[in-house]
Amino acid sequence: MTDYLQLAQEIKAWGREAGFADLRITDVDLRHVEAGFEAWLAAGYHGEMAYMAAHGNKRSRPDELVPGTIRVISVRMNYLPENIPDDWRRIEQQHAADTAVISIYARGRDYHKVLRSRLQQLAERIQARIGDFGYRVFTDSAPVMEVALAEKAGLGWKGKHTLLLNREAGSMFFLGEILVDIPLPVDAPMRNHCGQCTSCIEVCPTKAIIAPYEVDARRCISYLTIELHGAIPVELRPLIGNRVYGCDDCQLFCPWNKFAQRASVDDFDVRNGLDSASMISLFAWTEAEFLRNLEGSPIRRIGHERWLRNLAVGLGNAALSLHGDAGLVGALNQRLDHSSAMVREHVQWALAQHGISA
Ligand code: SF4
Ligand code: SF4
Repeated sequence: MTDYLQLAQEIKAWGREAGFADLRITDVDLRHVEAGFEAWLAAGYHGEMAYMAAHGNKRSRPDELVPGTIRVISVRMNYLPENIPDDWRRIEQQHAADTAVISIYARGRDYHKVLRSRLQQLAERIQARIGDFGYRVFTDSAPVMEVALAEKAGLGWKGKHTLLLNREAGSMFFLGEILVDIPLPVDAPMRNHCGQCTSCIEVCPTKAIIAPYEVDARRCISYLTIELHGAIPVELRPLIGNRVYGCDDCQLFCPWNKFAQRASVDDFDVRNGLDSASMISLFAWTEAEFLRNLEGSPIRRIGHERWLRNLAVGLGNAALSLHGDAGLVGALNQRLDHSSAMVREHVQWALAQHGISA
């Protein structure tokens, strides 16, 4: 007969050995978040992310997504690069106008691969201990409400910016799950420690956090630069600044991120100098160079066309402090005849910011 209390302790130890900073267990009852999520969808805040609405109640009912599931093993993995300076939050708030600002999580290897393989190994280790059991691993997967599950498992609390955060580790971590059919003991949730703070709401460049715990994704720079396939709405372009892939602002200014921790794996170390690359150099990459340089990176998913679209917006916004700069204008001119109408339109917009009509 399996001692599930003992097994849960073993799984937690194996999780640490697999590089996860924390691992906790919850049940599958997320009814308390269903109404809020449905209202969020009904308001259209998910924008073009049709996959958010595609799974019906399966998102909040893991036992309908994977029949037989009774527990969720929820993990978190820190992702700050090992060699990031101690004053990284200050540095990240002060990038030069012509530097490409890329979300910290995306500067190294694709976390989906890193987490999925480690979750799979963990599941196999459980299997070696107890024999066959039902499970499925997820990380950042559409049909799973990761933050709600992690919050219920006690990995942290959902902050007003809607990300999970933790008193010992801030919010600079990835989440992943194993849905299992074994009756492990569940862990207790953690108390919310946002208190009266509203920093994330105030600093959001596009005012995407429309109320505490509510983000209109259509305004969020992460959505606009990663999820959105078409043109970036003109009225939002000036607010994006030089953030060309994702946005960390609501996390950079969150007081709890002074406790953010570095990764215990080297997968998230910066590649291609993506912590301080100039927009001009990245804008010059051919499609072949984009694909080669970003092999294994999450950025590759958006493709070269959207990469150029985002960089064009950044190069246009650099006009605020580098108006008419010959290097920026020259780079934009190089892309005026790009085969994509979307890229051309964004380049024309960018040149117009520099006072040049193309
Ligand atoms: S990621 Fe950026 S744009 Fe999105 S909510 Fe946070 S601060 Fe606002
Ligand atoms: S910035 Fe303040 S309100 Fe926002 S998540 Fe952090 S603690 Fe909560």
